[in-house]
Amino acid sequence: MIKLVIDGKPVEAEEGANLVEAAGENGVYIPTLCYLKGEPCIGTCRVCSVRVNGNVTAACSVTVDDGMEVDVDEPEVADMRRALVEALFAEGNHNCPSCEKSGRCELQAVGYETGMVVSRFPYRYPPRDRDVGARHLWLERDRCIFCQRCVEHIRDRTSGHKIFSINGRGSRARIEIDVELADQMPPEQVREAMDICPVGCILEKRVGFDVPMGQRKFEVQTHRERATEGTSNE
Ligand code: SF4
Ligand code: SF4
Repeated sequence: MIKLVIDGKPVEAEEGANLVEAAGENGVYIPTLCYLKGEPCIGTCRVCSVRVNGNVTAACSVTVDDGMEVDVDEPEVADMRRALVEALFAEGNHNCPSCEKSGRCELQAVGYETGMVVSRFPYRYPPRDRDVGARHLWLERDRCIFCQRCVEHIRDRTSGHKIFSINGRGSRARIEIDVELADQMPPEQVREAMDICPVGCILEKRVGFDVPMGQRKFEVQTHRERATEGTSNE
């Protein structure tokens, strides 16, 4: 075990632990969107930004070190995280009451946890066509936050090829799906793709609202509780 200080409080963590996990085990919540527990950091969203030894950095990319000083709740860095979440809302079209993922959406949950009320940035309402070409999945592209979880973690099980990719840059970027490979996905991988998407962009056909409102994961346990106490309802 090594010793570090988080928000002025001395804590212990396992040597080599990821800072997001080490903080969570000590009851300190660091919001995340692209990060997946136990997987290498992708580092695309920066929503887990904290101050480490005085420098702002993405916590998911940090391995804890003896004597490390971490600020999570400091107002400036907390507002920086909130601004990043607000930018994600402004860069897409997010109408939560009509979204299949509401209540189990990580962006929505992190919005609540960071105290966001409305975006400080102008809403851009990007026109991104939905893609319904695959047999079992469709893409509501205007909800994509370009976290790249699907790109990195959902691959064809025979060839290892990527099934999802991001095409274009900046305001022209959009998520793409290889329909031929997608149509060969077994049912459990189709579900995995929907679940790995933190927002309501990758959706499974023919199973709308399979978990009733009021019983969804962030309705029975907050994102903060799940990060610091473990999950109770997958
Ligand atoms: S993806 Fe999440 S934030 Fe966006 S509309 Fe759906 S529930 Fe709301
Ligand atoms: S489709 Fe979902 S998982 Fe894939 S990049 Fe967009 S938000 Fe991330």
